[in-house]
Amino acid sequence: METSGRDSESGTVTLHALSAGHFTLPEYQFISPVVETARRTVPSLAFLIQHANKSGRITRIVFDLGLRRDTNRYAEPIRKYITTRRPMTTRPDVVEGLARGGLTPRDIDYVIYSHVHWDHIGEPRDFPDSIFIVGYGALDLRSGAGAKLRGGHPFFEHDLLPESRTIELSDPKEERGVSSAHQSSVQNFDTTRALTAFKHLPNTLDLFGDGSVLIVDAPGHLAGHINISVKVTDDRHVYLAGDAFHDRRLLTGEKDIGTWRDVEGHVCCIHADRQTAAETIDRIRKLELDGVEVIAAHDPEWENLNQCRFFGVTIETQP
Ligand SMILES: [Zn+2]
Repeated sequence: METSGRDSESGTVTLHALSAGHFTLPEYQFISPVVETARRTVPSLAFLIQHANKSGRITRIVFDLGLRRDTNRYAEPIRKYITTRRPMTTRPDVVEGLARGGLTPRDIDYVIYSHVHWDHIGEPRDFPDSIFIVGYGALDLRSGAGAKLRGGHPFFEHDLLPESRTIELSDPKEERGVSSAHQSSVQNFDTTRALTAFKHLPNTLDLFGDGSVLIVDAPGHLAGHINISVKVTDDRHVYLAGDAFHDRRLLTGEKDIGTWRDVEGHVCCIHADRQTAAETIDRIRKLELDGVEVIAAHDPEWENLNQCRFFGVTIETQP
């Protein structure tokens, strides 16, 4: 068990990782400088957040679904694109990871996507009852808004999400709440109640109203890119950074964000907005300096060092 927050004000939160496949990246597309032929195999991490309120009611969230178990079920342009990402494994996937700890997809109240790239969307059809939450702008990508993006943004499945069970968060700049019928279940992005520990984060949504789970606007990588911050104890926070960065050396300043040229000579970047992505990394770097644990979705070192924090791996003990 990750641990839990216990005080009179907030609920109790546990955080576990879920294995959700591995694939292989050409490093030049992510960091610079680097040897052009360098490749490395990375995980696509998902996470299970379980929140119990003061009455003991448990709400379960899965953050990202990783790779799709059956890659033949991806849309054809994605199937073609991911031939560049081999070696690749998709098992165990999130559903199998949940089962290891005794849960099924029907136990999951919310699936929150950091963003809708192929290696995070998994198999939403596995979650027939869950409400899906995406950041502002993510739904536009389904209708072709991402067509002009160069590099790493191959295609977005127009039928990815069930319309009646999907919440798109509002534009955090406008603070108008969420754009769906589920408006009452999710609060507005809140720029005035950001916790002291999160002074570096301008746009957060306090999911349970107790400061235990924050959805954080993390722009730059792709429209709608969001992160989650979890208060696992009163003085310990874990920040799930999604694809805000793909290599820890971007946090330390040892490397810069990579760019490359496509066959037509256009400059490509894995981040849709490189400058904004760099600003997001700056904010996350400050969080880490403040003592927050930062976990990126594709960090093989974190995965190797934290096997005991995967759901179902260890018997939970109370602190
Ligand atoms: Zn991505």
